[in-house]
Parts: sequence; C-alpha cells; structure tokens
Amino acid sequence: MSTADGTTTVDGNAIAGALLDVFGADMTARRGACEACGREAAFASTVVELNRRSAIVRCPFCTRTLFTILHLDAEPALVLGSLGRIRV
Ligand SMILES: [Zn+2]
Repeated sequence: MSTADGTTTVDGNAIAGALLDVFGADMTARRGACEACGREAAFASTVVELNRRSAIVRCPFCTRTLFTILHLDAEPALVLGSLGRIRV
C-alpha cells in the first residue's frame, strides 16, 4: 500500500538493514515490548510506515509508535516512542 506522499506500509523485515545500522545487530528475530499495551512482538512483525525520510515502527497490537528511524542527513537518528524493552 502506498500513499500520495510515497509512504508504504511494510513489516519489520523490510527495514532489516536500517535496524542493523541503528542497533548494530540483526534485530528481526529479537522481541520488543510496547509500554502502551504491554504486549511483546518480534521486530519482524511490527508495522512500518516507510518513506524516503523515515521509518515509523508501530506496535502490531495497538499501533502506537515504538520508535522512528529518521534519515534526515548522513547519520540515521533513532527517536524512541513506546518501546519499553528489548530481549537480547
Ligand atoms: Zn502496543
């Protein structure tokens, strides 16, 4: 699905490379917990709104934003949302 501004909705597998850049590890099989609803899911199963400048990663259960990866310049930036913890 793509909107007029070029945003597509994908799952967390589609941003595996960006997650690797930010966290320094393959995160797709790791599990994170949402502080808004308390549920836990693999990063691969998150819902991602993706465009050229950002990846908004949402909880697959309550749709709150877990975190956002911004690509506004050469270095990506991580903006934390309702991601409460990550199993490592
Ligand atoms: Zn949630």
